[in-house]
Amino acid sequence: MADTIFAKIINRQIPADIVYEDESCLAFKDVNPQAPLHILLVPKKPLDKLSSADAGDEALLGHMLLAAGKITRELKIEDAFRLVINNGEGAGQTVFHLHMHILAGRPLRWPPG
Ligand code: 5GP
Repeated sequence: MADTIFAKIINRQIPADIVYEDESCLAFKDVNPQAPLHILLVPKKPLDKLSSADAGDEALLGHMLLAAGKITRELKIEDAFRLVINNGEGAGQTVFHLHMHILAGRPLRWPPG
C-alpha cells in the first residue's frame, strides 16, 4: 500500500492536532471539519478500507470502536456523536487508509447525505 497522508501523520512526517494515541491507533482533528468537533481515528497498521479487512483485523476493529468510545468520553461528547466510515470512492472516501470520522457539536441529521 502506498504511503497516504495519514501514514505520514502516523509517522510524524507531517503535523496534525493529535487528540488520542495508543499502541494500535491514532486520532487527530480533521483539517477540514464538517462539524464543530471532527476527529479522524486511524489504525497505525495500513489498511486501505474497511472492506479490505479480514478476520485477522477483528481485534483491531473492535479496539478502534472502543477507542472511539473512549475519545468521546474524554471530549465529553459521548451522548451525541456520529461515527462514519466512507468506504470507496463512490461513498466519498478520498484517503485510502481506513479511518473513522467522529462528528459532534451540531445537530446531525438523518438520513445522512
Ligand atoms: P474521507 O473523505 O476519505 O472519508 O475522509 C478524509 C478526511 O481526511 C477528510 O475529511 C479530509 O478533510 C481529511 N484530511 C485530508 N488531508 C488531511 C490532512 O493532511 N490532515 C488532516 N488532519 N486531515 C486531512
